[in-house]
Amino acid sequence: MEKHQVVVVGAGPAGLTAAVTLAHANVDVLLVERRVAGSPLPRATVLSLRTMELLRWWGLETRIREGADSVEMTMLEMPTAARASEGTQIAVGYPTAVQSSVVSPSEAVCVAQDYLEVELLDYVSSLSSATVERGVEVIDVNTSAEVTTVTVRGATGRRRTIAADYVIGADGAWSAVRSALGIEMIGSDGVLNGMMVEFRAPLWDVLGKHRHLLYSITESGAAGTLLPAGQGDRWLFGKQLGHGIKPTDEVTHDELRHHIQAAAGVPGLEVQIERVGRFSSAAQLAERFSAGNVFLVGDAAHRVTPHGGTGLNVAIAGGFDLGWKLAWVQRGWASASLLSTYEAERRPPAAHNVDRSSDPFGARRDAVTEMSVDLGGRIRHVWVDPFRLSTLDLIGDALTLFVAAEVSAWDAAATALARQLPITVVPLEPMPARSLGISSDGALLVRPDGLPVAGWWTSVNAKDQLRHAVVAFVTGQPALQPASFASHVNST
Ligand SMILES: Cc1cc2nc3c(=O)[nH]c(=O)nc-3n(C[C@H](O)[C@H](O)[C@H](O)COP(=O)(O)OP(=O)(O)OC[C@H]3O[C@@H](n4cnc5c(N)ncnc54)[C@H](O)[C@@H]3O)c2cc1C
Repeated sequence: MEKHQVVVVGAGPAGLTAAVTLAHANVDVLLVERRVAGSPLPRATVLSLRTMELLRWWGLETRIREGADSVEMTMLEMPTAARASEGTQIAVGYPTAVQSSVVSPSEAVCVAQDYLEVELLDYVSSLSSATVERGVEVIDVNTSAEVTTVTVRGATGRRRTIAADYVIGADGAWSAVRSALGIEMIGSDGVLNGMMVEFRAPLWDVLGKHRHLLYSITESGAAGTLLPAGQGDRWLFGKQLGHGIKPTDEVTHDELRHHIQAAAGVPGLEVQIERVGRFSSAAQLAERFSAGNVFLVGDAAHRVTPHGGTGLNVAIAGGFDLGWKLAWVQRGWASASLLSTYEAERRPPAAHNVDRSSDPFGARRDAVTEMSVDLGGRIRHVWVDPFRLSTLDLIGDALTLFVAAEVSAWDAAATALARQLPITVVPLEPMPARSLGISSDGALLVRPDGLPVAGWWTSVNAKDQLRHAVVAFVTGQPALQPASFASHVNST
């Protein structure tokens, strides 16, 4: 029987991220996607700071930024686009460029999901241990036998069964993998229903210097949300059901054109309608994120409404978390118990976003609170080579041991553990070391996602401390909690 180390079901943001992370670690991964071509829908239009840090880690940041609209990461509430100068700027949980520069080498950006997916798909296809198959639908998953298998149906209707050490269900809100496992979703469906229109119009000319991530239009008869969705004046206009439209309303392109012209405040504006769709969104969490060797990630594990725009970013964070942990197990660096930390660590931020998204005012959040959910307790970014190399860039895909100087005790301790698990020792200059809270002969041990495993020791008993920390970690002990990390750094 055909066999892969990991089969990933679904090439959306969650599945692509998991596949990239696994393939990076030379794990043999098969990514199957039922669509023959990518989705042309822009869908999500914002990439968070942590998402951009991951893309930077893979060397994709510049390519992604090339597809970004240059905007302030805030909402402008205004009567119409033509009256943007009367607008009120409102925080929507994303850091501004200036805020980003304080905490990160990257910046949250306005990029449409379809642009990101093309870049990620290109990238994963270029990695030698990944195989991508499109037009292939998973129709069953079997975990009852000794080996886990998926049954797939190709474009010609031919079925085949594939064995895998692990399966990742990244197959979206109506996950077939989740159904096959009998895992229920908890929470409400149909929380926010509406209509989304994709169109092209020279709206930037109307808005002038008032460039934002989204616009809330308040003029009676024109109310709705306008979102930039990519270069070439591609836009989205969203409207909630009950706010001027009924579920049964048939709206013609002419009516929509007039509505968008009214929202723009420019009656004769040239508007080309590209696509009209209805959406029904939920605020739900899967009762559990795994069964046996099968894991759920992204929308398959948690569904959010568009309030706050977190669906894509939390899918990417989950795909990365599960990806590196599975890679460690497959490489023999950790026992399978490490995998229990996937749900332990990803459920709280997912639950936060589910709650946020069901709040009618959930989009309006201050950046500092939401950023801490997004960054999730990773170590501080400190420039090591000003404006070129960050402490985050120095984190490897095994364990990274930041030390304050060339203290041979740490090298010796890492070498002693090398056969069990590679540990890269990274000596820092005194200033960046101080910023990370590392004392002159101390060290800080960090996971691939930048969370501290253990740290701030001194070099006395370096070998024993390191061995104990590594053994505890690879057998499934969660990372240090952000709170204890923060309180340590603040007290040093
Ligand atoms: C209209 C709309 C607007 C949105 N706006 C925003 C927004 O502004 N901000 C935001 O963050 N999020 C937004 N979202 C949500 C965001 O798009 C999702 O949260 C995100 O795509 C989740 O990624 P995913 O990889 O988990 O799932 P998906 O992107 O749904 O990917 C799942 C993939 O699995 C494939 N698949 C499904 N079943 C199978 C099968 N049986 N076999 C093989 N392949 C399969 C699908 O074809 C798909 O490619 C929006 C969604 C919609 C629909």
